[in-house]
Amino acid sequence: MFMTFTGSENGEQVRREALAFIEDYLKPLEREHGITHESEVPMDLLRQIWKDSREAGLYGAQLPEKLGGRGLTIYDQCLLKEDIVSAGAVLGGHVLGELGGPPRVGHLFQFASEAQLESHFLPVIRAERTCCFALTEPNAGSDASRLATQAVKDGDDYILNGHKRYISGAPYSDFAILMAVTDPDAGAKGVTAFLVDFSMPGVSLNSDYLPISGQRSHADIILENVRVPASHVVGGLGRGFLLGMSRINVNRLLHCPTMLGLARQALMEAATYASGREQFGTPIASFQAIQHMLADMATELHAARSMMLDVASRLDRSEDTREASAMCKLFASERAFQIADRALQIHGGVGLMKGSKVEFIFRALRMFRIVTGTSEIQRNTIAKGMLKELTGKQ
Ligand SMILES: Cc1cc2nc3c(=O)[nH]c(=O)nc-3n(C[C@H](O)[C@H](O)[C@H](O)COP(=O)(O)OP(=O)(O)OC[C@H]3O[C@@H](n4cnc5c(N)ncnc54)[C@H](O)[C@@H]3O)c2cc1C
Repeated sequence: MFMTFTGSENGEQVRREALAFIEDYLKPLEREHGITHESEVPMDLLRQIWKDSREAGLYGAQLPEKLGGRGLTIYDQCLLKEDIVSAGAVLGGHVLGELGGPPRVGHLFQFASEAQLESHFLPVIRAERTCCFALTEPNAGSDASRLATQAVKDGDDYILNGHKRYISGAPYSDFAILMAVTDPDAGAKGVTAFLVDFSMPGVSLNSDYLPISGQRSHADIILENVRVPASHVVGGLGRGFLLGMSRINVNRLLHCPTMLGLARQALMEAATYASGREQFGTPIASFQAIQHMLADMATELHAARSMMLDVASRLDRSEDTREASAMCKLFASERAFQIADRALQIHGGVGLMKGSKVEFIFRALRMFRIVTGTSEIQRNTIAKGMLKELTGKQ
């Protein structure tokens, strides 16, 4: 097919295994338990899926082999993630551990001490523990320099107070990698990353909101005089921002296959529906207006995927992709949402009804224009880099 891209031999093998896992194991399990996109899935069942995926060699497949992964390139990871999402399983994200598993700790492995690897990081890889990444606060969203969560030294410990907002995976997690201010006068160099166990006294979760996706996979983390040992500092004092920024280009890119997987599903749904739905005595797919919408959707999906894979190749060659990753996140999120909008239009009234596949995809894709850096913030990054390159000025 004109839109098909192929990865390395290793990557293609993992793609085949993942699709088989979804069709033979995950989808039947979802049917058996009656799970929909908005179900609250019992933790026992999720733990079982993580373990089974781990045994199948898929959970954490993106990690290097020395950490028990399959050593996938970023290019391979993009293809794999898009395949998994477009396969349409409700719990597809859990196959690679997207919510609480290895992708949440990502590259932070390399900054962890031996003791932290044993107590926190390796158990995440083995699907024994789960974690989330907590930066955002009520008054620090796009502007992360406004963090107010404080960590004050007290003997061998730090006392943490603060409030983290909208943290993905928090309801499933055993601990957070959490950013707090250790030196209020040092700006970005005064922020430190801590491992905060949710079993510690003073930690509580609050999720009395529901995003438009209808999925309860996010929560606020409230810290009230939480005593955290200094040994839980990750990567050294004052290096929290550095840790976060060191992987931002890869993280931004790795959200794109999720958006494009959903967009691919929307396109397939729309094409199928248009071929079957008859009006004026003929399938609506025979109308040029509908054909042109489908053509635009396919073209935009192809463009976004080509862009994503170009940036992935650059990252695999260790090139600096700061602006290119921001462009990709911007373009993929905006185009994917527009693809979903057209898919809904093609479905007519049926598409507007709660429970239809395209209305869920539409709601889910709307979120990506805001989360992990809004479209405006991506444009700021692109413009700043471009102007600097073209004019030599900041
Ligand atoms: C479902 C969900 C999951 C999330 N998961 C996590 C997570 O796991 N961990 C985590 O740390 N955070 C998480 N977040 C937080 C997320 O990253 C922020 O919501 C996002 O960065 C935007 O911040 P904000 O909501 O405070 O919006 P604001 O920063 O208040 O922005 C409001 C509007 O102003 C615009 N704006 C702000 N500054 C500028 C500027 N300089 N130029 C132009 N426009 C600007 C924005 O683009 C936006 O349109 C999550 C959020 C949601 C909703």
